[in-house]
Amino acid sequence: MVKKQHMPAHECKRVHEMGFPLAGSCDYYHRMNMMRYAVLGSGSSGNSYVFFDGENAILVDCGFSLRELKKRLDNVGVPLEAVRKVFLTHLHPDHACGIGVLTRNLPVPLVVGREAVAGETVVWSKLRVPEKSVLLVSEGETVDVGEFSVWGFKTTHDSRGSMGWIIDHGRGSRFMVLTDTGAWTEDMAKEALSADVLFLEANYDERMLHCGPYPLRLQKRIEGAWGHLSNTQAFDFLRRSGHIVTTQNNLAPRERRVYFIHLSVVNNSPGLLAEQAGGQMWNMTSFTVCERGKIYSDELACPL
Ligand SMILES: [Zn+2]
Ligand SMILES: [Zn+2]
Repeated sequence: MVKKQHMPAHECKRVHEMGFPLAGSCDYYHRMNMMRYAVLGSGSSGNSYVFFDGENAILVDCGFSLRELKKRLDNVGVPLEAVRKVFLTHLHPDHACGIGVLTRNLPVPLVVGREAVAGETVVWSKLRVPEKSVLLVSEGETVDVGEFSVWGFKTTHDSRGSMGWIIDHGRGSRFMVLTDTGAWTEDMAKEALSADVLFLEANYDERMLHCGPYPLRLQKRIEGAWGHLSNTQAFDFLRRSGHIVTTQNNLAPRERRVYFIHLSVVNNSPGLLAEQAGGQMWNMTSFTVCERGKIYSDELACPL
C-alpha cells in the first residue's frame, strides 16, 4: 500500500502562498503537470482504477463498496469529491457491485456501454443505478471530462457489451485498460502503441489452469474466446503493441509502464508471472504485477 499523500485544504493554501505546490497536494498535479493514477484493486475481490490530474478524477470500474472505495482513494491521495464520472468495463460483480450505491448517494454519472445495458437486463436492473445518472455510449464514442477524453472499444467476454477503455489526457498522456477479454485484436494493439501506461489482464498461466482444480468445463470457459487473457496472450499483445521491443516490430524504445492485472489466485502466481515478464521485458518498459486486492499508485509527468 502506498502512503496517504493528500493534503488538508489549509496546507494546500499555505503551500500555495509560499509559491510552490507540495508533492501530493491537490495543486501539485496541476501546476507540476503531473498525473496520479492507481490500481485501487484488481482481481476477483474487486476492480477499480483511478486517474487524477489535480482537478478532475475518473474511475474505471467500481467493484468496491462506497466505504471501501473512499478508503482506497484516500490512500492514494485522491478526494472522492474529485471523481466526475465512472466508466464500466462490464457488469460482472467484481467490476460493478459498488456502482448502485455510489450513484444513488453521489452526483457522479456512470458511463456504460449501450449494449451492456440492453444485453444484460437482469444484472443491470439489480444494480439499481438511477436513470438520470446513466450515460449510454457505443464503441468509439468519446466522453470528455475536463481535460480527459475517454472512449471505449469492444472486448470479448461472457458479459454482453463488455468494453475496454482508452483514457487520453489533453496534456499528452494516454492510459489504456484492457481486461476481461478472451482475445485481443490488431486494433487494440494499434491503440496500445501510444499508451504511456497500460493496464493489461494476465489472468492465468496455461499449465497452472490445466493442472489445477477447476473442472474441465470451467477451464474451457476461461481459456475460450469469451473468457480471459492468459500470460502468453498478454506477452503476445505486448510484443505486438511495442511494449516489448523485438527485431520484428523494430520500434524505438521509449519509457512505458505495464501493470499486469486481474490475476487468478488459483490459476496464476505473481512470482511466476514476474519471472516470465522479467525474461523478456528487458527494454524500457517497466512492469508491475498487481496482486489481488492490493493498491498500486504512481505519478506520470505529462509531456505537454
Ligand atoms: Zn468479467
Ligand atoms: Zn473480472
